Amino acid sequence: MTRFSAGGPAIDRLVQLLAKLPGLGPRSARRAALHLVKRKEALLSPLAQAMLSAAEDVRSCSVCRTLDTTDPCVICGDPSRDPALVCVVEDVADLWALERAGAYRGRYHVLGGTLSALDGVGPDDIGIPALAVRAAKAEVSEVILATNATVDGQTTAHYITAALAECGVVVSQLAHGVPFGGELDYLDDGTLGTALRARKPFTEGA
Ligand SMILES: [Zn+2]
Repeated sequence: MTRFSAGGPAIDRLVQLLAKLPGLGPRSARRAALHLVKRKEALLSPLAQAMLSAAEDVRSCSVCRTLDTTDPCVICGDPSRDPALVCVVEDVADLWALERAGAYRGRYHVLGGTLSALDGVGPDDIGIPALAVRAAKAEVSEVILATNATVDGQTTAHYITAALAECGVVVSQLAHGVPFGGELDYLDDGTLGTALRARKPFTEGA
């Protein structure tokens, strides 16, 4: 007996791929696929075009490692951003959260993860040597650690602090108010802005 396939292999494939998106299981993927195919001209075709151009144009910024369609990214290429401040975030989503909050006018370094012996993620994988090179430049005076308040996030923050010890920069971190295990992306803009303004020097055991 063959498995029931409502819309043929093309729609099946669509459902399978949609089901890989965060927050979408098979059931919601089927609903989303049906929603799309019912709106071929208004939604499915424009979405397909947008995905294609994103797939072609999105790249990692060679300076800060965020994702953008230009390299250097819009933030690194913006002369009005303060080059003295570099904020270290785990993920592009965290950068977007800080930008949404609108409380920060410096630059970024996107780790793209945290150190993890278990998953085989080492300092090179999250760009720490490149961050140290940036931090040693005369224009950089402060590195703000905005890694998540998880065990991995804090382990990574400690490692970075040690790696930057010889760079002659102040290393600070977001003030508490960021809940333990809290991810920046889930914080409201006001809380994030306050945590940023009330940042303090990074200390062992903090
Ligand atoms: Zn950049």
